[in-house]
Amino acid sequence: MGLVSNLQPSSGYQGSDFVYRFAIKLQERTRAARTIIPRAIFQEGYPFRLRLPDGPIQLPADGEVQTDVEVTIPSTGIRDDTRLDLYRLDLAFSDQGSELEADALTLETAIPLPGRSRPHVLIDANDIQRMNQWSVSAAWAAAHRNAILQAADSWPAAYIKNYHLTEAALPPEGGQWSMWYICPQHSVSLRYEGPARNVCPIDGKNYSGWPYDQVIYSRMHDYLAGIARDLGWPIG
Ligand SMILES: [Zn+2]
Repeated sequence: MGLVSNLQPSSGYQGSDFVYRFAIKLQERTRAARTIIPRAIFQEGYPFRLRLPDGPIQLPADGEVQTDVEVTIPSTGIRDDTRLDLYRLDLAFSDQGSELEADALTLETAIPLPGRSRPHVLIDANDIQRMNQWSVSAAWAAAHRNAILQAADSWPAAYIKNYHLTEAALPPEGGQWSMWYICPQHSVSLRYEGPARNVCPIDGKNYSGWPYDQVIYSRMHDYLAGIARDLGWPIG
């Protein structure tokens, strides 16, 4: 029966070192107090500093205990030629006196990309400049750039037309799983013909209401998220 009930990772620069913290919860489910021995397994030459659980972990019957692992990447290891290098650390837990592992998990840590100043955005002014330069020198980049501008220009007319709306309104609620959009009788994709009109192409039967309408809401939400991005780039 597994011991690990939760793993909460967090990470960030601490000075010029980069630190990963893993808060690991162990849960006792056998209704008997146990003494757990943690053991770290890593490859020779593992380059990071480790702070591991200190000795045996006392786990009360039906209880939960948090134990922390800290992996520090020293600033000297953070270089342009090492960025995103990934190192794994296995952590095994066994009962005192037992050779068997009661549970184990793998912690993955990578050398981070350079820290960036706030706001943390997908692209910055340098990227916009680079994209504009590429669109002059490379045809594929120009095609991408034009597609983004065209998508931005199509707002909101394309949204209103594609979803048979009278105005650029938000969907009334959250969406649903796309695989619901299938005729339960014929197992074919339904055809969207307007609000509450989800029609089987074989016999023309309409499937309105939950979950069919909500699948369309999902598509609308996805579209709106995409168009928000496409509208943001030309402003940049
Ligand atoms: Zn059908």
